[in-house]
Amino acid sequence: MSVLAAELGRLREANLYRSRRILEGRQGARPVIDGRSLIAFCSNDYLGLAAHPALIAALKRGAELYGVGSGGAHLITGHSAVHHALEEELAAFVGRPRALLFSTGYMANLGVISALAGRGDKVLEDHLNHASLLDGALLSRARLSRYAHADPGALRRQIGHDRARLIATDGVFSMDGDLAPLPELAATAEHHGAWLMVDDAHGLGVIGNCGRGSLEHFGLTDAQVPILVGTLGKAFGTFGAFVAGSEELIETLIQRARSYVYTTAPPPAVAAATRASLDLAQRETWRRERLRVRIQRFRTGAARLGLPLTASETPIQPLIAGSAHRALAWSRHLENRGILVTAIRPPTVPEGSARLRITFSASHEEAEVDSLLEALSELPQEDRGI
Ligand code: PMP
Repeated sequence: MSVLAAELGRLREANLYRSRRILEGRQGARPVIDGRSLIAFCSNDYLGLAAHPALIAALKRGAELYGVGSGGAHLITGHSAVHHALEEELAAFVGRPRALLFSTGYMANLGVISALAGRGDKVLEDHLNHASLLDGALLSRARLSRYAHADPGALRRQIGHDRARLIATDGVFSMDGDLAPLPELAATAEHHGAWLMVDDAHGLGVIGNCGRGSLEHFGLTDAQVPILVGTLGKAFGTFGAFVAGSEELIETLIQRARSYVYTTAPPPAVAAATRASLDLAQRETWRRERLRVRIQRFRTGAARLGLPLTASETPIQPLIAGSAHRALAWSRHLENRGILVTAIRPPTVPEGSARLRITFSASHEEAEVDSLLEALSELPQEDRGI
């Protein structure tokens, strides 16, 4: 174990050591940490649903009806009526024939890619894809080729004249908040006879008039994007994930996705809570509107302060610090002002692009956005690129 101690020491010296903060009480925009109430701008609870009373009530009622544990895998005793109803509602929400629940988004991506691609196949992925998409390709033993971020030209060059099996991309990039150029990726996929897979973990519930995500935003069809992955622990405020697509896709995953077949089904009561959040996310359109207004307020204020904003229009608004040391210093400064934004450092983001990944939620008040801007205005001018 002394080898590990030395490695941990090296991480500390490089400002790359990570540790967890312990939250007391409910998830939300104002968590209590070490007895102190902070305003958090780094959660993925974009619509402010994670601790909504309707979800809590549905979870309780779900536990009364179905118990706590699912008792086994979906293919044994684990697939309850409430899981099934949620799958049907998710499929209807994204307008596809079928949906299949997975325990987490990480497992969905591992399961889908390794079920659909194998030795001898070629899988292409954006350089900034979420780790689970990259790991899925590694697990599949297909040849993984990563193209330059959001660059359809780079993708085309990399495919060359090959046949490709699968092109996979985040819909909204998790650490940058920008959208993938999906129409161009779909055209390339079609040209090369490849399937396009979009992981819309940060788009569903948030982007598009009805919250149907990046595909709604671009007006893309099932034929153009045959594989859609969504997660439930972000805008929907609960836990889990799903894959949506054709009858054949879903039946193939039921037979072959190892992270689906060989794991215990999630607690049915969680599915009951997600049914409640899916309903709220669709009906309460004011949540998306409020979120949009908060994002705009931040961007206008940040531009006035000369902060290094990116082009992102989504709730993910990164401020690139560069070094891990500087990102940590920014994060500490904000925390001294009562604001929680954890520093995101390599290997989560590429070397030299450590950042504050600031995120917004419909539950943030206008005055809280102003407090964030005020705290950021106190960063040294050279840090603000002025
Ligand atoms: N895909 C993307 C783009 C993500 O950002 C995340 C979560 N950070 C996941 C997949 C994994 O989802 P889960 O947290 O449900 O495992």
